[in-house]
Amino acid sequence: MTKNKHIAIVGGGLVGSMMSIYLAKRGYRISVFERRSDMRKNSVDAGRSINLALSNRGIRSLDEIGLAGQLKQASVPMRGRMMHDVNGKLTFQPYGKEGQFINSVSRSGLNKVLITEAEANGVTFFFDHRCVGVDLNETSLSLLSEGKTTHMKFDNIIGADGAFSSVRGAMQITHRFDYSQDYIEHGYKEFTIPAGKGGEFLMEKNALHIWPRESYMLIALPNPDGSFTCTLFFPFEGSPSFKSLNNPNDFFEFFNKTFPDAIPMMPYLLQELQENPTSSLLTIRCYPWAIQSTLLIGDAAHAIVPFYGQGMNAGFEDCRIMNKLLDEFDDDWNRVLPIFQQNRKPDTDAIATLALANFIEMRDLVADADFLLRKKIEAKLHELFPDRWIPLYSMVTFHENIRYSDALKIGLKQQHVMDIVMKTPGIETTWPALDFQSLVRQIEEA
Ligand code: FAD
Repeated sequence: MTKNKHIAIVGGGLVGSMMSIYLAKRGYRISVFERRSDMRKNSVDAGRSINLALSNRGIRSLDEIGLAGQLKQASVPMRGRMMHDVNGKLTFQPYGKEGQFINSVSRSGLNKVLITEAEANGVTFFFDHRCVGVDLNETSLSLLSEGKTTHMKFDNIIGADGAFSSVRGAMQITHRFDYSQDYIEHGYKEFTIPAGKGGEFLMEKNALHIWPRESYMLIALPNPDGSFTCTLFFPFEGSPSFKSLNNPNDFFEFFNKTFPDAIPMMPYLLQELQENPTSSLLTIRCYPWAIQSTLLIGDAAHAIVPFYGQGMNAGFEDCRIMNKLLDEFDDDWNRVLPIFQQNRKPDTDAIATLALANFIEMRDLVADADFLLRKKIEAKLHELFPDRWIPLYSMVTFHENIRYSDALKIGLKQQHVMDIVMKTPGIETTWPALDFQSLVRQIEEA
């Protein structure tokens, strides 16, 4: 039955390419329309983050389509956060238990692998094809290529065309479609720490580096070639901000004072300040995701800020869950689409909330002694009761069987219990004697 169905996917980014593989493997005829040219032939514009943190949810989907091994080989494991204070003093905080880590992968490298694998499974990619209109009643697309617009009809359309989705644009003008977009006051700019002369890493390789400075931060993720990609998350306005430091000398002086141990490793700082874009960050919430035979997935349905490193992972999880529902309901799309959106929406709302909260944790709290103690106590709880107290970061990042919405709920209970623990006088020294069993019980009984 699936063989006769022709499905269009708008957007051949990370999530569209992943979805195309799942569906091609089910036997559907899949056409992907991508507005950019083939990134395997032309260099891609930097535009967005050069590398990404891939974690268990994303790996699970890659595993199901048979690519996890290949991608793990091309990634750099990051076992924890390496915090840099203003004096260059380093503090390492593991992300989870021994053997748990997230992976720094190249965005374009991953996308190219997915496109090639999709083609090997029979997917047809139409590059340089921009979707300029969607008729939801007809399940048809208007596609612009080389100055000509063509119209094509399909059995289903999947909008995987990112945060500024054209498919969602068509839905937004329908009756009772909920939509919101919220920009944060920070933007971001990327810089490079090149590899040393012999191709070596100039800082600890297996860590995500953070220079937390309360209202802003610099981070750096390792690349397999020995370099790091740094991202400055910085306010657009106010002082200091991209606006107040628009003169290169002022910017250099500020950087030198604020990130003194980073600057000697950043020979292209001023060049990249001029050349690299300053981009904005936003959360998009909308509903429904499915109207008639058209569905939104990935950032088109739920773009989030990048501070939990989960946007792509969540998009890959969308694909896995869609595939599972198609299994369960015998490829009956009329049944699958409503169930998919109802089940999935609370989870993507939860990760949107968690991602916003994690910005405060990364830029401010990680430098705070109380916060580090709290993490230490939670790590002890996890060690003593591995299944009964799983720290929030671990639930989101390493436990792909725990839904984001459940992680958020449990995390709030843990926070409540820990807030009380942290008020205990002398907790810095007395914490090893805490009644850990009773703390775990409080979560279970709350
Ligand atoms: P996109 O990647 O935006 O892809 C959409 C595709 O659709 C593009 O190829 C685009 O060209 C195409 N397209 C758009 N409009 C049209 C049209 N009209 N017609 C045809 N094609 C079109 N996530 C993580 O999991 N881990 C991280 O560490 C992480 N770090 C991030 C850092 C930053 C700075 C940012 C901004 C995001 C980060 N993310 C991260 C989030 C991640 O980048 C996104 O969630 C992910 O790219 C979403 O994939 P997507 O395919 O849904 O959308």
